[in-house]
Amino acid sequence: MLTKWGDAVSLRAKMTASFAGILAVPLIVAIFVVHGTVRDNDESRLRASLSSRYTAATALIGIMQDVAAASVRQIGHEIAARPDAVKSFIDPQQASFAAARMRGGLSLVALVKPDGHVAGLAEAEPSFPAGSARPPFVDIVEKRPNGWAVLSDVQVQVPCGRGCVRLAGSVVGGFWLDRSFLVRLDLPDSDITLIVNGVASVSTTSRAGALVAAFTTKDVSHRSVAGRDLAGVRGPLTSSAPGLEILVTGPDARDPSALVPVLIGLFLLALLAGIPLAYLIARHHTRPIDELASAALAVSRGEFTRHIDLGSHDEIGQLGEAFNTMTDRLRSYVGELEASRDEIRRSVRRLGETLQSTHDLTRLLSVVLETAMVAVQGRAGAVYLVGATRNDIYVKVGRGLGSSARRRMLMGEGIAGTVARERRSILIPNSDPSLRPAESEPEASTVICVPLESQGQLIGAMALYGRDSTQPFGATELETIRSLAQQASVGIENVLLHQEAQRLSITDGLTGAWNYRYFQMRLSQEVERAIRFGRSFSMMVIDIDHFKRVNDTFGHQRGDSVLIEVARRMVGVVRVQVDTLARYGGEEFVLILPETALDGAKIVAEKIRESIGGEPIGHEGEEPVHVTVSIGLATFPDHGTTPRGLIRAADQAMYEAKARGRNQVVTCEELDHTGAADDSPAEGAPPVAGDALRSRIDDQDSTPPGMRP
Ligand code: GH3
Ligand code: MG
Ligand code: MG
Repeated sequence: MLTKWGDAVSLRAKMTASFAGILAVPLIVAIFVVHGTVRDNDESRLRASLSSRYTAATALIGIMQDVAAASVRQIGHEIAARPDAVKSFIDPQQASFAAARMRGGLSLVALVKPDGHVAGLAEAEPSFPAGSARPPFVDIVEKRPNGWAVLSDVQVQVPCGRGCVRLAGSVVGGFWLDRSFLVRLDLPDSDITLIVNGVASVSTTSRAGALVAAFTTKDVSHRSVAGRDLAGVRGPLTSSAPGLEILVTGPDARDPSALVPVLIGLFLLALLAGIPLAYLIARHHTRPIDELASAALAVSRGEFTRHIDLGSHDEIGQLGEAFNTMTDRLRSYVGELEASRDEIRRSVRRLGETLQSTHDLTRLLSVVLETAMVAVQGRAGAVYLVGATRNDIYVKVGRGLGSSARRRMLMGEGIAGTVARERRSILIPNSDPSLRPAESEPEASTVICVPLESQGQLIGAMALYGRDSTQPFGATELETIRSLAQQASVGIENVLLHQEAQRLSITDGLTGAWNYRYFQMRLSQEVERAIRFGRSFSMMVIDIDHFKRVNDTFGHQRGDSVLIEVARRMVGVVRVQVDTLARYGGEEFVLILPETALDGAKIVAEKIRESIGGEPIGHEGEEPVHVTVSIGLATFPDHGTTPRGLIRAADQAMYEAKARGRNQVVTCEELDHTGAADDSPAEGAPPVAGDALRSRIDDQDSTPPGMRP
């Protein structure tokens, strides 16, 4: 609940509340302090006032005692001076008369016999309250009970002869401690009660009994009597009369409750004035934070152009600057991200298009590698393919590899070699941290290398060396490269299938030599080239002698294997990279020898003838077949200047060789007429192919299929 409140309330409201709280706490403390101080002051004032009244009362008693003593002494002197002084203490009438005559200002005077009994007395009527159980004056004088009067006495001595004196009696006189005594004290704002033996004898208030019961100690104490808060002090009136006490009471000024509403009013006033002030301060301090918050919200909505100016250089100002720097950076990061996203998008699109359309393996692999590098910010990379011998791999396409001398490495060598041999992905530094790159691989602290496979067969490997980022490659990058490798594998497979299809369309299925179509194309190209550059070349037609017999004797299957072996032997003689050997049809072959004049061609023809006829054909356990060939030879431009003319010329020469007994070479020169006579362009001659039809996977593994044995 509290949390929800805290969540919902704005910072400004919280700050306002905090400031108000900060204001309220010292105010409350001040109120308590003021209240306490006032109370303490009142208390001490009250104590002082009550104590002074008490002191005044006891002092007055002392004065009255002195007055009484002086008056009594005076009376004693006067009586002693009279000749019938003794009589005054014997005759009660005389004694009462003397007492009345000499009482003067005293409240009471008594002449007391030497035995202590009162002879006669005179008294004024005291003003004790009704019901006050005052003892008779005789008892007061004779028994001296405390509290009813302030008395003093003096003995009266009379002479009884020469040098002799005797006690005639004594004079006792004093003042009533009655209401008039209290009036004489005249203490303002207070009530005085005289207590005799614990009982109120006289008081300025009618609640004297309750007061005496409530106040029992000499110290100033506070009591509530009949609904009034009172303070009082009670103590002995004189030290000589322990049963006589005085109680001074007054209103209890200690209770400062009257001050409380004032203080609360002041507190509320201060709060009322303080809250708007607190709000203003809070608003002043939270305004930049509000601005920051709204700017941050804007940034969270993607407005990276938002800038704020808080106009200060304090911590909040620094926060604002940091915020601006942050949005600048974010903007630049977003820009970079968008650029990189666009680049990746472009790369992926290019990859998709390339995978669908290209049959150019190098281009395909270049696009795959470039896409991979863009996708994971690779610094350098290579796509390796397995070599023809399958013992090694070589760089088919590479980026940022530097001038590495060796681009070929053995299976199991370095990182890519290990990947190719073990057919598993490697992520450095996560896996195989001890694996070192091969000499031909670039040094990098982070590497991804994945195998390229197609239909369960290893095609090669793709590797990325180093990263344009502080972060090394991780599982995400590995997964990206793996999926690219999969796509690449499909693409490579398509290219290989295409190449195979292409190869099949231009090669002879039985012997592996080029087929007639390819031969025609190559011959046209050669004629074109020879015409353009003024060069010459030779071609020959090779026909197996009496091949029908081979079939008839050994069967067609054996005939086929003889054809294969004948082709293989011819390949062994010719320059596979330059010459074109094709199966013309049946048991006839044609051979184009570029840049070869008749003499040179003759030598080649003889070699062919010898390689075939020189040794019988047959595998182990087979009956050897001895075959020979007849070869007709023609040279451009001497025996023909068109493909058709040349073929015809060579054909004629071949027939001439047959005619001459077979197993020999005949050149057109040896013929009666030359093929040049029929040198018109051949009908339906194939167009000259512009581009090379074949593109090999491995230039170094490029034995033309037509030249394969
Ligand atoms: P010549 O010395 O006059 O050339 O005699 P020949 O028997 O070689 O000539 P011919 O043209 O009479 O016969 C060609 C034979 O070659 C016919 C056919 O049986 C055989 N032949 C053609 N193509 C193939 C082939 O692909 N396989 C096999 N086994 N035989 C073939
Ligand atoms: Mg033939
Ligand atoms: Mg033949």
